[in-house]
Amino acid sequence: MNQRNVSTAASARTAGSEGARALSRHAFLGLAGLTAAGVLAGCSSTGASAPAPAVVSTADPASPGNVSSFDLAGGTNGRAPTIKLNSGYEMPVAGIGVLQLGAQECYESVTAALDAGVRLVDTAYAYRNEAQVGQAIRDSPVPREEVFVTTKLFPTQFATAGTAIDGALERMGLDYIDLMLLHHPGSFDIDAYHAMERAVASGKVCSIGLSNWYNDEIDQLIEEVSIVPALVQNEIHPLYSEPQVIPHMHDLGIAVEAWYPLGGRGHVDQMLADQTVVGVAQELGRTPAQTILRWHLQRGVVAIPGSGNPDHIVENISLFDFELSETQMEAIDNLNRDEKLGSW
Ligand code: NAD
Repeated sequence: MNQRNVSTAASARTAGSEGARALSRHAFLGLAGLTAAGVLAGCSSTGASAPAPAVVSTADPASPGNVSSFDLAGGTNGRAPTIKLNSGYEMPVAGIGVLQLGAQECYESVTAALDAGVRLVDTAYAYRNEAQVGQAIRDSPVPREEVFVTTKLFPTQFATAGTAIDGALERMGLDYIDLMLLHHPGSFDIDAYHAMERAVASGKVCSIGLSNWYNDEIDQLIEEVSIVPALVQNEIHPLYSEPQVIPHMHDLGIAVEAWYPLGGRGHVDQMLADQTVVGVAQELGRTPAQTILRWHLQRGVVAIPGSGNPDHIVENISLFDFELSETQMEAIDNLNRDEKLGSW
């Protein structure tokens, strides 16, 4: 275990106690029975690891999530290891995102990803391809409970979030959604979060979280809700690596996931051609994309690179037979310019 892993493990212990505090607040609020009922009613997925571990109640204070310390040695190429979210559910640490993939391309990408061993799929109402994600999951020989699917409510849906959650389930043709996020802060976001909490209680959604939320906003939101978010999905890549946000979320027991993990469409070529990245990739004998994705994982950040290319999909889930040294991690850390490439 290198120095970085040691500090990550220490941070995980902090997250554990914080997570336990947060979860005991849920029990105090009387959500324990509701969420356990929800687990029985719909959410049976515990993630991609096989054999599947027993379903864990979302309100078990003895089982807080361990979201910052990834068991990367436990992964194999084509099968990412999982983390346990503070909701009690297991989630793979590497997957695929389907932003900007049209209907057929999305269906084919998710199918190729499932064939390649990917078990984490990220979509959103705004991507207009929830239906194709659901169809690909339903058509796949991979059992539903082995796939972890995330979707998001867009701010235009917040005022009628309960109906919107039902709409997502219907479009996807799934009995439950593993993780639902609020896509951005916006009007009625707390109301929408409460609707997601009710969806957890009724078993329609297993875990809930946020996207494009930062430290102050998270601290405020936690004061107003009953279920601590399981995950925050934010823009994170070598040029914008969020060194202040990631530890804050982890200390709260909240998993962190990167969007634009490779810099995003329009920037990826520049990112993959960066001299530092290329240099580290050459030292490792891996591609620049694999080098960046493994850097995310070693920082305790879940990565969901987008791709419609089956070869890239296989490449992007082949991250578990090499490791960046502390020096190589620092070299990529040092690329940070606090420069967002996305609009949030
Ligand atoms: P990304 O950083 O994953 O880059 C995608 C680009 O990289 C595509 O052009 C793809 O063809 C290319 N690529 C992928 N693998 C490659 C490889 N091995 N070699 C060379 N090129 C490769 O950007 P993204 O797809 O926009 O972001 C990832 C996911 O994050 C999205 O699909 C979406 O699910 C999610 N997302 C969420 C938000 C949000 O606001 N919550 C915003 C953007 C994206």
